[in-house]
Amino acid sequence: MSDKSIKVAVIGAAGRMGSTVCDAVDLAPDTELVGRFDVGDDLGDLGGADVVVEFSVPDASLTNVTHCVEQGVHVVVGTTGWTEDKLDKLRKTVAAHKDVGVLIAPNFAIGAILMMRFAEQAARFYESVEVVELHHPNKVDAPSGTAARTADLIGEARKAAGLGQVPDATTQDPEGARGGRFNGIPVHSVRLRGLVAHQEVLFGAEGELLTIRHDSLDRASFMPGVLTGVRQVAGHPGVTVGLENYLGLS
Ligand code: NAD
Repeated sequence: MSDKSIKVAVIGAAGRMGSTVCDAVDLAPDTELVGRFDVGDDLGDLGGADVVVEFSVPDASLTNVTHCVEQGVHVVVGTTGWTEDKLDKLRKTVAAHKDVGVLIAPNFAIGAILMMRFAEQAARFYESVEVVELHHPNKVDAPSGTAARTADLIGEARKAAGLGQVPDATTQDPEGARGGRFNGIPVHSVRLRGLVAHQEVLFGAEGELLTIRHDSLDRASFMPGVLTGVRQVAGHPGVTVGLENYLGLS
């Protein structure tokens, strides 16, 4: 017999991620879908949810999440675009609702989180490193949040190991075609039909190349991470950034 003990509502429920989350919540043995909300809907009491999953747009996410926290409802957030300024505002609201947990995860694919951790571990052993992220052409931001976070982790690991700047390639860089640098790490963004969400981290040294690659081939790849968030968020009061904190990988 199933025990649908966690009541879940989804904000952004008509979107690509939101609708996939609705299906996953419906199918999981321990979760019950009690609300679907999208742009223009009155969020009200959130359908009596214990946990809200929020996948909307960067401009709306802070307002939506703040409403949930003020209702005393835990939130699992996948929407990207969380600046330090927005995080500070959210932390202040959450501080007034001490039992509420909010998880903000730039990437729910567990393989992508492992890729970032492996890249962080490898960083101190290689002078040369570059990140290549490849996505479908409808992706609005570049570089991806995952690529920026990977670069941050590699950059911090290099600093801790006393490694200097990643050397520039000797070839010319016409019109910024090589992409940009994030925390000193070169990051390249490819937008191409046929791609979904992919990333390679390339480490080079004399006579060897280490490539760490992750491919999300379908939005289904995010669902185990989202459901992990739904199941654990009530046990993590306050604002947590990164699913790795729920997986023993932080
Ligand atoms: P989408 O455009 O398909 O869906 C967004 C939905 O949000 C739409 O249905 C839209 O109507 C709705 N929306 C717009 N304004 C709203 C508002 N004010 N309140 C409620 N709903 C509103 O986009 P998507 O592909 O589902 O992605 C959604 C977000 O999730 C993006 O920020 C994307 O970058 C991010 N994303 C995160 C992960 C992750 O693992 N964290 C994975 C994929 C996508």
